[in-house]
Amino acid sequence: MAQTVILSLDMGGTTLSYGLVQPDGRVRFQRAVGTHARGRGEAVIQQVLEVTRTLLEVASRRRLRVSGIGIGVPGTVDVARGRIRDNIQNVPELEGVALGPLLRRRFALPVHLDNDVNAHTLGELYFGRGRGVQNFAMLAAGTGVGGGIVIGGKLLRGRRGYGGEAGHTTVNLDGRPCFCGSIGCIKTYSSGPDIAAQARERLQTAQPGRLLELCGGDPRRLTARDVFAAARANDPIALEVVEIAGRALGAGVANLVNLLNPEMIVLGGGVLEASDLLLPRIKRWAASYAFADALRGTRLVVSRFIKRSSIRGAAALFLYETDRPPRSG
Ligand SMILES: [Zn+2]
Repeated sequence: MAQTVILSLDMGGTTLSYGLVQPDGRVRFQRAVGTHARGRGEAVIQQVLEVTRTLLEVASRRRLRVSGIGIGVPGTVDVARGRIRDNIQNVPELEGVALGPLLRRRFALPVHLDNDVNAHTLGELYFGRGRGVQNFAMLAAGTGVGGGIVIGGKLLRGRRGYGGEAGHTTVNLDGRPCFCGSIGCIKTYSSGPDIAAQARERLQTAQPGRLLELCGGDPRRLTARDVFAAARANDPIALEVVEIAGRALGAGVANLVNLLNPEMIVLGGGVLEASDLLLPRIKRWAASYAFADALRGTRLVVSRFIKRSSIRGAAALFLYETDRPPRSG
C-alpha cells in the first residue's frame, strides 16, 4: 500500500515552509519560500495555493497517498470555521480570510488550520519534546511571541482560539505598546523585531560601538541577530537588551509555572537560536518570579524544531484534528 503523507504548511511572518510529512513524523520533502515572495495582498493567498499545488505534484510523482492538508498561520484562528481572525500582525492580508474552506474547495481534501504556535505545540506533543508529556506549555519567540498549552494531552484553545497566547500577557504595567492593543506584553521585549527596536532606540543617544559597526552605521538595518552578535562581543547596549528579553521570557515562564504547574515548558522560535545567551537569563529570572517549589517540578527545555522541521507541527495538527493520537514513548 502507498505511504500516506500530509501536505504540511507552516506560515511565519517572514517564511512559508512547506512539505510532505508522514504520520510518523518523517519529512519526505521540504522547501521554504518568503511569505511575501510574490508580493503583498492577494499574492499571499496565491503563494499558498501555488506551494500546495507543488506539494500535490511531488506526492503524485513519488506515488505517495495524500490524506489532507495541515496549516499553521501567525495569527488567531476560528478553528471550527477555518477562518483567520483579525489579529494577524505580520501577514495582515490574511485578516478574516477563510483559508480552510478555500483550500478545501480548491483541492478537495480535508484541511485543518490553526495558529502556528498551537501547531508547533502539537508538533512537540507528537514528535518532539512533549512526547508522552500530559501537561506542558510552549513559549515561542520569533517575529512575534506565541504560546501553546497542552493539558491532559489536549490543546487548550479556549472560547475563541486565544487560549495559550502567553506572549501577550503583561510583564510591565507601564510598558511598551503592543499591536494587540495592550502595553508591556512579553512580545514587546522579546520578539526579534522588538529586540532590534529596543537596541535601535538606545543607539540614538549612545556612543558608537560594536552594535553600530555590525549594521554598517545604519541603525535602521539592525536585526536581532546583530544584537546577539554584539552581546557576544560584550557590547553594553546589546547586553542590556538581551537581559531585558531574557527577563521578559523568564517572567513568562514563571507566569506559566504559577498558573499551570506544568511538567515541562518548551522554548522555541527563531529568537531561541541564541539560547546560549538567553537560556541562562530566562532560568535566572524565572527562578526569581516563580514559586521555587513549582519551578523545581517543571523541566525547561529548548525545542529541537528548527525552521526546516517546523512543518511537522502542521502535520501534527492534522493528525490531532483527525483523532489520531500520538504514539506513546
Ligand atoms: Zn500584546
